[in-house]
Amino acid sequence: MVVELVSVGTELLLGNIVNTNAAFLAEQCAALGLSCYYQSVVGDNVDRLKGILATALERADIIILSGGLGPTSDDLTKETAANVMGMPLVMDRHSLERIEVFFKTRNLEMTDNNKKQALVPRGAVVLDNDNGTAPGLILEKGKKRMILLPGPPNELRPMFVNSVKPYLEAIEPGIIYSKTVKICGMGESKVATVIGDLIEGQTNPTVAPYAKTGEVHLRVTARAMDEKEAKQLVKPMVKELKNRFGTAIYTTEQDVTLERAVVDLLLANELTVSTIESCTGGLLAARLINIPGVSEVFKSGYIT
Ligand code: ATP
Ligand code: MG
Repeated sequence: MVVELVSVGTELLLGNIVNTNAAFLAEQCAALGLSCYYQSVVGDNVDRLKGILATALERADIIILSGGLGPTSDDLTKETAANVMGMPLVMDRHSLERIEVFFKTRNLEMTDNNKKQALVPRGAVVLDNDNGTAPGLILEKGKKRMILLPGPPNELRPMFVNSVKPYLEAIEPGIIYSKTVKICGMGESKVATVIGDLIEGQTNPTVAPYAKTGEVHLRVTARAMDEKEAKQLVKPMVKELKNRFGTAIYTTEQDVTLERAVVDLLLANELTVSTIESCTGGLLAARLINIPGVSEVFKSGYIT
């Protein structure tokens, strides 16, 4: 299933705010095993939004939009999406009641334009907003879907996790499982050369390299009906990577850092370490000192 992200807001185009919603949504979709080939940012403009939605509908099954669901006149995502999907707007009683309660419980005056937020495209799935007034919406037409989420991250994130994620999981059953193989002492280009055939040729599991400071991580990801099956797909690939990289791999555990691996090795071999640093000014010692249990093996640190 292919998903495309559309972030709406002139302030994003002007660089006034950073598009953290796109980063969040992209990461969530990847974890769900959805393919995302395009993301776009468009200003608060009906024609340009229509244009990008028409294009996105051609190349994706699901379009996830963020922003522009609020009550003001520059908030036009819902109207435009409904128009493109050919769905007229109707008043949603349930949403209207929730918005009224939202204002009453906060002792705020509700203005007329807030009612606009309870208008929904006919037949849309309404996602309650527990942290604001604009409900989220899912518009379905044939095999195409648009998912509209409010712009404020404190509204978008819980709405995605609580409502959208279960919805997406139900449309494409199965799970995604991944394992990270962490390599140090070898540059990204060298790593890529060693596994060129695996990056290109494999679809399930896939192998993707991520360059980090001083390290390269390889993420092996499989899609299957359950975790057991996914693990069975991942296992031989991790074994193959171990064959190819040998001792350059310092861990295959997601939460083990390089310093954790070093401390574990010292503990396992009953060895100790001291550091002597000059221009790093204690950074090396500081990294080691962060690891619980390090006092067993860390003798002393010098900055000279
Ligand atoms: P509101 O009801 O608050 O108007 P909205 O759904 O209409 O919500 P926008 O008006 O587009 O959303 O944006 C409201 C605020 O949400 C922005 O000022 C910004 O702080 C935040 N925001 C919007 N889009 C993004 C984004 N892509 N990434 C991070 N923050 C965003
Ligand atoms: Mg707004």
